[in-house]
Amino acid sequence: MQCLECQTPIKGRSDKKFCSDACRVHYHNKISADYSTLKRSIHLILNRNRKILKKINDQGIKTMSKTELVTLEYNFDYHTSVFYSSNQKTYYYCYDYGYCHLGDEKLLVVKSNKKGV
Ligand SMILES: [Zn+2]
Repeated sequence: MQCLECQTPIKGRSDKKFCSDACRVHYHNKISADYSTLKRSIHLILNRNRKILKKINDQGIKTMSKTELVTLEYNFDYHTSVFYSSNQKTYYYCYDYGYCHLGDEKLLVVKSNKKGV
């Protein structure tokens, strides 16, 4: 068995994963730092998406093409919730703002009146 952090061969108990407490702490700190970076970058994408939808909504614009949203740097891979309406539409929300496909690349931009989950 080798230390997961420094790859030093470990002597003693076979279930030991680290050669020292320092390696164990360092290894777990790296994992949580990676997770923090991931969380931060997803948070930034979701915030930017919401800001774009809010701006469109605030301007009183109801529909927009997908291409226009891409131009505004909207990231379609990320949303916070999905809502299936009774008329077979799928709404993708970034918090309280969302959109649904109208066909022909057109999207309907909407604001939710939900206050929480
Ligand atoms: Zn080590």
